[in-house]
Amino acid sequence: MKLKDKIALITGGARGIGLGFAEAFVKEGAKVVIADINIDRARQAAHELGPNVSAMKLDVTDLAAIDAVVSEIDQKYGGIDILVNNAAIFDMAPINEISEASYEKVFAINLKGPLFIMKAVSNVMIARARGGKIINMASQAGRRGEALVLLYCASKAAIISATQSAALGLVKYGINVNAIAPGVVDGEHWDIVDAHFAKWEGLKPGEKKAAVAKSVPIGRFATPDDLKGLAVFLASSDSDYILAQTYNVDGGNWMS
Ligand code: NAD
Repeated sequence: MKLKDKIALITGGARGIGLGFAEAFVKEGAKVVIADINIDRARQAAHELGPNVSAMKLDVTDLAAIDAVVSEIDQKYGGIDILVNNAAIFDMAPINEISEASYEKVFAINLKGPLFIMKAVSNVMIARARGGKIINMASQAGRRGEALVLLYCASKAAIISATQSAALGLVKYGINVNAIAPGVVDGEHWDIVDAHFAKWEGLKPGEKKAAVAKSVPIGRFATPDDLKGLAVFLASSDSDYILAQTYNVDGGNWMS
C-alpha cells in the first residue's frame, strides 16, 4: 500500500496506459479521479475499478475547465497528491505536409494542457503544503525525431523540457516532477498509428506494427502493465529524492 489515502488525478485515464495507472494506484491504496474527454468511457472505467475511482469530464485544452476540475477535486477530497499528465493525441505528416490545424491541436492537447494542469495542480499542492508527485507522459518520440511523426515528436520533446523546468521550480515546495518515456505500448492508440503508417508508407494494415515489434530489442511491444511499477514508484515516497528525470521504458529502444 505505497499510495495509501493519496489522491491521484490521471488525465486521459479512460483507456490504455492511463487506465493501467488508475488500476495500479488503486491497488496501492489511492483514490483516483480519471479526467477524460470521453466521459462515457471514463465512467465505465471507474465503474469497473470500484468505489475508489471516479470519473470527470475534462478537455485538457480548456483552461477554465482545468481550473474547475482541479478545484472540485481539491474541495471534495481535501487536496491532490499525485498528478499524471497522460492525455495526448498522435498525429502524422512529414514537415512539408503539416497543417496549422494539426499543429494547433497537437500542441494544445500534448503541451498546453499538461502545462496548465501542472500549474493548477501545483498551486493546490502548494496551498495544502504537503508536497506532491507529478508524472508527465513523454515518449521515445520526444527523444528522437521520426520523419512522419514530426508534430507529436516535437510536442513530446517539449514535455521532457517542461518536466525539467517545472521540477526545478517546484522542488522547494516538496513537489517532485518526473516523466516516463515509453517506446511502443500496445493498445487502441496503436491501431490508429498502424493505419496512419499504412496510408503514408503504402503498407498493409498490421504491417508496420509487426515491423516495429520486431525492431524492439526485447522483441515485443510493451503493455500498460510494463509501465505500472515505475509509475507507482514515481508517485510514492520511494522517489522523494528524484526529480526532473525522464525514464525510458522502451524494451531497449525500439528505433535502434
Ligand atoms: P490512448 O490514445 O489510448 O488514450 C488517450 C486518452 O486520452 C483517451 O482516453 C482519450 O479519450 C484521452 N484524451 C484525448 N484527448 C483528450 C483531451 N483533449 N482531453 C482529455 N482527454 C483526452 O493513449 P495511450 O496509448 O494510452 O498513451 C497514453 C500516454 O502515453 C500519451 O501521453 C502518449 O503520448 C504516451 N505514449 C504512448 C505510447 C504508445 O505506444 N501507446 C508510446 C509512448 C508514449
